[in-house]
Amino acid sequence: MEYFTLNNGLFVPAVFFGTYHIQDTRPILEVVRDAYACGYRALDSASYYKNEALLGDALQKLGISGEVLLTTKVWNDAQGYDATVRSFEESEKRLGKVDICMLHWPAAEFLSRWKALEDIYRAGRVRAIGVSNFKRHHLQTLLESADVPPAVDQIEAHAYFMDWETVSFCRKNNIAVQAWRPLMRTGPMLQNRQIARIGKKYGKTAAQVCLRFLVQSGLGVVPKSVHIERMRENLDIFDFALSREDMRLLSSLNTGIRTAGDPDTFI
Ligand code: NDP
Repeated sequence: MEYFTLNNGLFVPAVFFGTYHIQDTRPILEVVRDAYACGYRALDSASYYKNEALLGDALQKLGISGEVLLTTKVWNDAQGYDATVRSFEESEKRLGKVDICMLHWPAAEFLSRWKALEDIYRAGRVRAIGVSNFKRHHLQTLLESADVPPAVDQIEAHAYFMDWETVSFCRKNNIAVQAWRPLMRTGPMLQNRQIARIGKKYGKTAAQVCLRFLVQSGLGVVPKSVHIERMRENLDIFDFALSREDMRLLSSLNTGIRTAGDPDTFI
């Protein structure tokens, strides 16, 4: 595992385990137990995923709550300062603790919502605060008035969709970038023949090539799987490096098309 040091000194793994929909096909306790056994030590959740209580319960039953980093996100319906604090407190209660709290989307009036996260951070209730789905211009607006800069921006990123403008703005401003949906979920990326060919050269799968592409570009990744072999596969990306030509080829696959809403219009 590789680690990133966030702008406030917090050490975080390059790979977080995605928890969206993990309760759909297997008991969440089994999924979390397997993920922990494979080596995941950071989990990505959100109030929107409606599984925080199950997740908190599983961590407590497994006795590993203190050994993993937990991210959650405040959903868009928590508008304003007070609602943001309330949303955080509800997530904290369900999960048992929160290490990193993010605003899920740059929903209208995000400055007062950010003030709430700053106060939660200053009070020592979380170890870092961040944002998600913020584009460059959202970050610029936020940085103009923020006392505490976001430590991380979690955005959609994979070989078929890269917002390099936001990524390079984050780099310049010392904000870590985490890639959500790094495998493009059930999209065509993992069936791409060129990616499979690259994988063959290194003895790796298409999924591993796609994750390695992101990590080698300096991004953290948040893959989700309920299958233990895939959980393992998605962590096994640190013993090879893609060549410059392969990185170039993977970069050229960017379609500019998102799998989900555009942060400018999605609420
Ligand atoms: P992913 O790109 O992680 O893809 C998950 C899908 O790929 C699942 O169907 C999984 O199947 C399959 N899969 C996983 N590993 C492999 C593999 N090695 N080979 C082939 N297939 C594989 O998409 P998600 O949408 O789940 O995103 C990941 C995480 O990102 C979420 O769980 C969530 O935590 C976060 N997220 C954040 C958002 C935000 O707005 N901040 C938005 C969306 C997601 P199976 O489980 O059956 O193995």
